[in-house]
Amino acid sequence: KKSENRLPEWLKMKVPSGKNYERLKETVKKLNLATVCEEAKCPNIGECWGGGEHSTATATIMLMGDTCTRGCRFCSVATSKTPPPLDPNEPLRVAKAILSWGLDYVVLTSVDRDDLSDGGAQHIALCVEAIKRGTNTATESGDKTNDKENKIPFVEVLTPDFQGLASSIERVALSGLDVFAHNIETVRELTPFVRDRRAKYDQSLFVLQHAKRIRAQHTDLPPLITKSSIMLGCGEHKGQISQALADLKAHDVDVVTFGQYLRPTRKHMKVAEYVHPDQFEAYKQEAESMGFLYVASGPLVRSSYKAGEFFLTNHLS
Ligand code: SF4
Ligand code: SF4
Repeated sequence: KKSENRLPEWLKMKVPSGKNYERLKETVKKLNLATVCEEAKCPNIGECWGGGEHSTATATIMLMGDTCTRGCRFCSVATSKTPPPLDPNEPLRVAKAILSWGLDYVVLTSVDRDDLSDGGAQHIALCVEAIKRGTNTATESGDKTNDKENKIPFVEVLTPDFQGLASSIERVALSGLDVFAHNIETVRELTPFVRDRRAKYDQSLFVLQHAKRIRAQHTDLPPLITKSSIMLGCGEHKGQISQALADLKAHDVDVVTFGQYLRPTRKHMKVAEYVHPDQFEAYKQEAESMGFLYVASGPLVRSSYKAGEFFLTNHLS
């Protein structure tokens, strides 16, 4: 309670409400899905799930279970060397749920599965493919679907690094997704202190660039939008952020987001600083002036925050 009281004013959250929000909450429960929005108690849930007149309903679904093979110092997900096996029904179950929601935009994310030879790439790709097949997905199992509710959403995948395995990056990049997101999370200098030791700054840059390049070789598919996020407040300096932006740009990344790191529990790394909203704005301007397609920056911004809004305004207008 005490530490909550010490949060600066700009980090106070709104209580979610609204018809769309209630509807999504109910179906998530019914279909036994795990959303990052709920699990991470994301402050934007009302806004994202609610959609609204000028915004798009977005949700972030977690794939491949709730146990990660890594242990990043900022992350509250449970760690194990041997997580339970993959659920082969997950791709169809997730697709059916998403199609029944009628969302505009969906973000699929996952734990890291270093225990699997492909890091889970095939499984992730099957999920994307099932969603993009649309109606067929639902009829495969004999269910009747309501066409109106069977809108095929744009799909963003927030991917693991697959330990830099090119074949895994390619499997996901060519699965039919619209946005390939992979987070560098922090600046180069802080990476060993913030992320699991298997997560490497240069490896993450390679993942992003390789996804973009391999997709560009397939002219039958639209170009892939690539995206990365940085948490602020881990002790980074301004010059290091500038360098991170330059690195992302040099690896053809299109979209960048900045949010404030919040400590999930006292076992996790400390917040070094609550970065002022003005500084978020300054980073946004800096990134925009470097030519990123889109930049979201603010204390409560999460990787998937307003992801749909950006995409739909840029691609459908
Ligand atoms: Fe969910 Fe992302 Fe929106 Fe948070 S920002 S509610 S995790 S979609
Ligand atoms: Fe959390 Fe991802 Fe790190 Fe796993 S790899 S501990 S899910 S941030």
